[in-house]
Amino acid sequence: DGSPALLELRDLHVFYGAIEALKGVSLTVAEGEVVALLGGNGAGKSTTLKTASGMMAPRTGEVWLRGERVDGIKSHELVRFGIGHVPEGRRVFPRMTVLENLRMGAYRLRRPDPADIDRVFTLFPVLAQRRKQVSGTLSGGEQQMLAIGRALMGKPELLLLDEPSMGLAPLIVQQIFEILKEINDQGTTLLLVEQNASQALQLADRGYVLETGSVVMADEASALLADPRIRAAYLGEA
Ligand code: ATP
Repeated sequence: DGSPALLELRDLHVFYGAIEALKGVSLTVAEGEVVALLGGNGAGKSTTLKTASGMMAPRTGEVWLRGERVDGIKSHELVRFGIGHVPEGRRVFPRMTVLENLRMGAYRLRRPDPADIDRVFTLFPVLAQRRKQVSGTLSGGEQQMLAIGRALMGKPELLLLDEPSMGLAPLIVQQIFEILKEINDQGTTLLLVEQNASQALQLADRGYVLETGSVVMADEASALLADPRIRAAYLGEA
């Protein structure tokens, strides 16, 4: 329809010292979509999210949000542009309570919006029960929920999620993916990095596959799920 993508990455080249982690990555995420980013260890998935959220700057290439060029803008400023990042390893503040962690997620807004806290507690009822509990004593799944909830406190239009299922029991992973679907149904766009390709592609509209810093496949999620190469490489099938 001619309106710009919510997120567009154009030909990103990103380095760690002499190591070129991204070798010309381009992708788009349209408003309302769920897009999965798949690939093996070291393929560049986390680096792609970090570059989209301003945690890393590309050496060359461009990051566009809703038709505005934002590469070079720092991550704490990009929160204002409606981008939220849930990094790998669910880094919550362990000595703070659940409620304090959620309030921290709104630090770039004037003040936490009570409606946002209510929204998080409705999505994750277990966090409401544990609102006064110190976060370091939560289970892994609860900490992941808190990390997602904290990102939602910044009112993101686009949520970047780095391996939300990592290290969690299958039942908890199932639960988290159901809640991600609900978050998307409520209007938040998702760009999701996952080792759990099957779960990710069932939720996603489209997917990209990264290998050693390059996009090697891009398609509808249903097509990727059915692709024998994907099934062999990422869905554990011979
Ligand atoms: P993983 O699932 O293992 O996190 P990934 O697809 O997210 O993999 P990245 O973490 O983006 O991959 O890493 C891409 C490349 O950049 C890899 O070759 C990795 O070794 C390298 N790399 C990542 N972080 C650093 C760093 N801090 N210093 C040096 N090299 C790094």
